[in-house]
Amino acid sequence: MQNNKNNSSYRKRNTKRNSRKKPGKRTGFSFAGKDKLSGLLILLIVFTLGIAGGRNVAAGLWDSAKEIISGMWSGMQSDQTSHPEHKQQATFDEKNPGRLEVHYIDVGQGDATVVLCDGHALLIDAGDNSKGTAVQNYLRKQGVKHLDYVIGTHPDADHIGGLDVVITKYECDTVMMPEFEKDNNTYRDVLEALSYRNMEKTVPQPGDSYMLGRACFTVIAPLKEYRDANNNSISILLQNGQNRFLFTGDAEAEAEEDILESGAHVKADVFQAGHHGSSTSNSEEFLKAVSPKYVVISCGEDNDYGHPHAQSMNLFRQMGSKIYRTDQQGSVVAYSDGTQIVWNCSPDESWKAGEKRKQADE
Ligand SMILES: [Zn+2]
Repeated sequence: MQNNKNNSSYRKRNTKRNSRKKPGKRTGFSFAGKDKLSGLLILLIVFTLGIAGGRNVAAGLWDSAKEIISGMWSGMQSDQTSHPEHKQQATFDEKNPGRLEVHYIDVGQGDATVVLCDGHALLIDAGDNSKGTAVQNYLRKQGVKHLDYVIGTHPDADHIGGLDVVITKYECDTVMMPEFEKDNNTYRDVLEALSYRNMEKTVPQPGDSYMLGRACFTVIAPLKEYRDANNNSISILLQNGQNRFLFTGDAEAEAEEDILESGAHVKADVFQAGHHGSSTSNSEEFLKAVSPKYVVISCGEDNDYGHPHAQSMNLFRQMGSKIYRTDQQGSVVAYSDGTQIVWNCSPDESWKAGEKRKQADE
């Protein structure tokens, strides 16, 4: 599925980026070359005067020449550090200063979201077992070399399946998972990857806040241990200036109710639909509190679970939310400068609900 990149805001951004004039290596070098030439000329004059016998005059001129040369040399050195081309390699934040990017990666049926800000990176889930390498490739294309935080929202395969690959291939500072565990191969693979890295999972507590460059995120759930995996999802509110993004993994109505009762701040500009847009999540009360301007649905095209469900789609429509969805639009990217949010594509207008073919609802 191709992204619609003809959106005017996207075009405007790219044009701006391309037309920005950078101080070029070539310009810097030719300027330094001119200095070098005049320095040599002065040396030649001093040398000629010295031979001519005017030793006193020549000594004075020699001192001046030394000053000019040393000034020229330090000028050339500072010239080198002031040009970005001389640095090792530009990273994503140097291209986009002051901007937070949220990439809802298309991993078919599942979740994988990477948040980039000021050279820092947070990965929330990594799709199914077969998607680890795809997520790794996506991160590489974004210039990500190191992950500050990795969150495995809950131990279901469509969320943590690809995490073993990511943890093995990337240096991760903190890997967060809920206390809740699952006795299956997918979960064991993640634990093995952690032990390969000599790491242990971090269990974040509601109210914990973490910095991500100029942005920060606060953990709002799980508030207790539930019997099923979905409700144990780690949920976070990400904030960049005035822009807020909410992620609740597969938390169902029960956990949503507990979040509301806890008094946590949930009002957000962007809400990643709970549980891929399932009707068992996205309760009306919760949505009213979130009041999202934008809803992003991460699900697979024509998935067996019928995500997103018609009931959720109707509620999103009633809320007046604009919809972005990975099954129809591929990977969806939101860019936040702290006051505005722009997207890599136009909202999806189909309002198409899925058709359920499977009873088990993961
Ligand atoms: Zn899921």
